[in-house]
Amino acid sequence: MPHVRIGRTLLAAVAIVVATASAALALPVVAIDPGHGGGDSGAVGILPPGAVTGLEPRVNAQLQPVLFEKDVNLDVANRLNAWLMARGFPTLMTRTTDNAGGDVPYTDVGTDLRARTDLANARPAEIFVSIHQNSARTPASGTETYVKIGAPEPTQALAAAIQRSLVACLGLPDRGVRERSFFVVRETTMPAVLVEGGFLSSGTDVALLAQPDFRQKMAEAIGGAVWSYAGLGDPGPICSGAAAAPVLVPKAVTIARAGKALTTRAGINPRKGDLWIATVRDQSGNPMSSVPLRARLPNGKGVAVTSRPDGKALIAVPRRKGKLVVAVAMPGIAVSATAQVPARPR
Ligand SMILES: [Zn+2]
Repeated sequence: MPHVRIGRTLLAAVAIVVATASAALALPVVAIDPGHGGGDSGAVGILPPGAVTGLEPRVNAQLQPVLFEKDVNLDVANRLNAWLMARGFPTLMTRTTDNAGGDVPYTDVGTDLRARTDLANARPAEIFVSIHQNSARTPASGTETYVKIGAPEPTQALAAAIQRSLVACLGLPDRGVRERSFFVVRETTMPAVLVEGGFLSSGTDVALLAQPDFRQKMAEAIGGAVWSYAGLGDPGPICSGAAAAPVLVPKAVTIARAGKALTTRAGINPRKGDLWIATVRDQSGNPMSSVPLRARLPNGKGVAVTSRPDGKALIAVPRRKGKLVVAVAMPGIAVSATAQVPARPR
């Protein structure tokens, strides 16, 4: 049975608006497992001529451009991670780089798979989604979702939701939910599925998997199914294929003294003090523009903050010894910085 919790829909809607800390909302922890990595490329597909993948360029021994399963899986996983994080889900990626599970150099399959399930079991994650692409010696195309043999009802429901959503979004043949004793679905302690999005051995599927938009659709299809499985109702538009603008969360603010060179350009009268610059950074460390800030001067008074499109905000501070405090003025976001303002030199 899905984890139905009353009031989740409203809470999730709030999460989208303010993108605040997800822990308080009790959304399930989702482990995302990008299959293969490092020395294990996974399946390999021959790319059609001129394909622009948006991924690391790869060639085979004959110098033909190819698509590595590990690269597709990581890209879909990153997109799914962004989709879920933007909606307040706590997530866990078993790898975030071209490495083995736990982002360590690849050694062997057993160690790699164990590292992945250990990460998810230790958290513990409440949903586990392993992302793979298929390959076959005989002609085959389509989407499959795997669960462990004899998987209980919550796992079956999760798999059915993901398979249905993938088939609807990707439009590839529906090869159904299947049971197999894959390591990551067998050795995890929460509802776990392994998705095989498409076949790298199929020219049709490879041409699609090569496209960033198609991989975005795959991520949204999985995300939408996780959303529904979590009892949140209708996930809204999914499988658009266009990466939505990421929801940026202020994670840090820094303030620094900037002297007077910028003051005339900014139109701030610096005669009675110094100019300070506040920079807000998102979860990736990039500067954010248009984040509302409030500043409190050493004398305790508030002062205007002038935002600029480059993400730097200007604050004119009187030379009065004490603490300058700059804080993000958004509900649910407790991010601030403090600086020591020196006394005016005489
Ligand atoms: Zn695989």
